Amino acid sequence: MSGVSLRLDLDRWRQHLATVVDATPGIVPVAKGNGYGFGLRRLAAESARLGVDSVAVGLASEVAAVRTEFAGDIVVMTPWRPGDDLARELLSDRRVITTVSRLEDLQAIGALSGESALAGESAGEHRPRVIVEILTSMQRHGIRPEQLPAVADQLNRISFEGWMVHLPLLHEGRFEEAETLARAALAVSPGAIWVSHLPAVEATTLGRQLAGADGEPASVRLRVGTWLWLGDPGAYSPVAAVLDVHRVRRGDRAGYRQRKITKDGWLLVLAGGTAHGIGMEAPTPAASGRQRLIALAQGGLEAAGRALSPYTVGGKKRWFLEPPHMQASLVLLPLTEQPPAIGDEVPVELRLTTALVDQVSEV
Ligand SMILES: *Cc1c(COP(=O)(O)O)cnc(C)c1O
Repeated sequence: MSGVSLRLDLDRWRQHLATVVDATPGIVPVAKGNGYGFGLRRLAAESARLGVDSVAVGLASEVAAVRTEFAGDIVVMTPWRPGDDLARELLSDRRVITTVSRLEDLQAIGALSGESALAGESAGEHRPRVIVEILTSMQRHGIRPEQLPAVADQLNRISFEGWMVHLPLLHEGRFEEAETLARAALAVSPGAIWVSHLPAVEATTLGRQLAGADGEPASVRLRVGTWLWLGDPGAYSPVAAVLDVHRVRRGDRAGYRQRKITKDGWLLVLAGGTAHGIGMEAPTPAASGRQRLIALAQGGLEAAGRALSPYTVGGKKRWFLEPPHMQASLVLLPLTEQPPAIGDEVPVELRLTTALVDQVSEV
């Protein structure tokens, strides 16, 4: 393999996915952004395999990649705004559920729904499917709780799919907050409660607490991304190809910046750079404090200005000679180490919510 690969133990990964889905009634897998390192299409295909009825994407522009691989409903989580032509088009897509976070947008969608342009396709039957977002302590998007009663007047022109409650991570009173907001919302109109960042057991409890007069639990839909796709780190590992290896001597210069090499050793040219999201994570925490002192002691003053790379060679993270290039990085290895061969792959630490790998290779 060339470039940066995400090695994927497909059986183990699928086992983890199935475990999470089994433990999470009402789960809605989230496939957005870089597809958590795996890509949107793969996540959509896995969601189909898992047999869930809905997935959630972040943006209207992500619907296209998901809808070819997944035949169920697609929730767009970023709130609808006027002026976004694609989001407006998607209102007439029967498989798309739009999130709305302001009364004025709900009115605008209602008005569009009344127009024949949108009623479109078959005999004007279709109404836009909408989730209404409630403002939580996140303070990101949503209708303020005191405005909720005004939502009721707007629901007859849309197909109402429920309420969205997006909670902060690790927040003390999150369960109480979810329950209070959901109760207020259900008093306005019955519907599913779409939550995020609530543990599965709490989501189930929430459904029971919100049970109607008939004792039926409320429908709670839990959107899960990171925990689902990246929750078993043993199932995947990013690696980078060794592109070149050069023997270097103290005093040599190398790289764009022609930095001086301070010790005899090996200069490794490794696949991966800023285009892959390398240089945006591991260097910062590692290049501080103790690591810098060690660098100072080992490599002289110049090394102190260098950053620890996310590449592991011979069991240890190694230093960048200079900041990563777009698709390759220069990394130093002491002479006492056995250098890898060209074509080998070495582990590279990547934050998979920001990284772009060249391929996912199933192992
Ligand atoms: C991204 C996102 C999620 C999924 O978040 P993870 O932390 O990756 O599970 C859930 N809900 C909303 C609204 C999101 O934007």
